[in-house]
Amino acid sequence: MIGGGIAGYCAALAARRDGAEVTVVARAPGATALYAGGMEIIDEIESILQRPNHPLTRLGIDAVGLATELDTAVSTLLLALRKEGLKFEGGWRSRGLYADIHGLARPANVVPETVARGELGALSGKRVAVIGVPEVGDYDARSTALALKELHGIDAFAEEVSIAELPTAAALTDLYGRRAPAPRARGAAIAYPPGFTNLPDDGFELLASPPSPHGWRLQQAIGLGAVRGEIISFETARGRVTAARSADRTFHADAIVLATGRHIGGGLHAARSTTEPLLGLSVFYEGRPAESLGSRLHHLKYIDASEEMRIGLMTDRRLHPLDKDGSVPYANLYAAGAVLGGYDYAGPCGFGVPILTGWLAGRYAAKQ
Ligand SMILES: Cc1cc2nc3c(=O)[nH]c(=O)nc-3n(C[C@H](O)[C@H](O)[C@H](O)COP(=O)(O)OP(=O)(O)OC[C@H]3O[C@@H](n4cnc5c(N)ncnc54)[C@H](O)[C@@H]3O)c2cc1C
Repeated sequence: MIGGGIAGYCAALAARRDGAEVTVVARAPGATALYAGGMEIIDEIESILQRPNHPLTRLGIDAVGLATELDTAVSTLLLALRKEGLKFEGGWRSRGLYADIHGLARPANVVPETVARGELGALSGKRVAVIGVPEVGDYDARSTALALKELHGIDAFAEEVSIAELPTAAALTDLYGRRAPAPRARGAAIAYPPGFTNLPDDGFELLASPPSPHGWRLQQAIGLGAVRGEIISFETARGRVTAARSADRTFHADAIVLATGRHIGGGLHAARSTTEPLLGLSVFYEGRPAESLGSRLHHLKYIDASEEMRIGLMTDRRLHPLDKDGSVPYANLYAAGAVLGGYDYAGPCGFGVPILTGWLAGRYAAKQ
């Protein structure tokens, strides 16, 4: 497995479950380490299946089959994370709204246990104390409380709690790992900026903006078993990839899963024309090779960034990356996660595509 994000992790879980001997090689944290704290897995399967270039449609599995695979993939993932000490709540069939540090609501299917108590519907009718730390410059609890009140009708108020030992010009990141301060207000739910530990029973964490304590905790949990290294080239023979090479090691494998992420992870290189840097795999936009679109996508980036972000690898039903003529260049190579195109990376499948394609790529690879 090349890639230490959520896709590589799910691929490794599935392949190990099916009896494969797995090595995960990861260069550095990618987009997974930046996620805001709410996993968006899927909204409506039926509407996804109407979109022919969506990576989940391309699997050729019907709605019932996708639901069954999601059940297994998500429950296995949450169980594995629990064993690593991270507890999550929710499932791909449930959906809630959670406030971020600015008081804006974001939908999510699965959230850390420490975020779950802050589901906006569950806060209605309660008083909510939003904890502020006067020494911290990049977060304002009063604005957050005001937004919770104005946007979501929640009876929120700010309470400032000083933490004297913080460095001067402290930022939210300086709160990471500190024990949650106790507020004076009693009888209210307590909204904390993310990063504190030992929250009281009625406390919850807000979602983050990057850098994200939620993302960092997740990345640390899933990165424990990975080998640190950057794959720089491959050995190939007769339509198969036989080994992946880093500067000082060669990893021989019967099957390889590319879970290298998008621009942040490094799986795609954005320039005038976006490329896949490791094997020169074809990159597609809406089912067409991106190189055939000239500089159109490059221009689109400035007009509508989310459109350009739909670019990526395209796969067959078994998650083999395709060449621009639709052929499979390597029979034992699989691709999973944000390196795939055809879906809205920052949308309702932000984690769903990496989790499910990772899971299936791991299973298919284990069969090699
Ligand atoms: C700022 C931000 C916030 C987000 N928030 C949310 C959210 O709240 N909810 C949600 O559902 N989705 C969110 N997303 C989307 C979601 O985080 C990503 O879709 C998901 O994490 C992608 O996972 P991945 O494993 O495919 O890629 P990544 O997590 O990017 O992992 C790619 C991995 O591949 C490795 N790699 C790449 N090239 C090599 C190489 N040559 N050799 C070795 N390793 C290599 C990288 O080092 C990295 O470990 C957010 C994304 C961003 C950027």
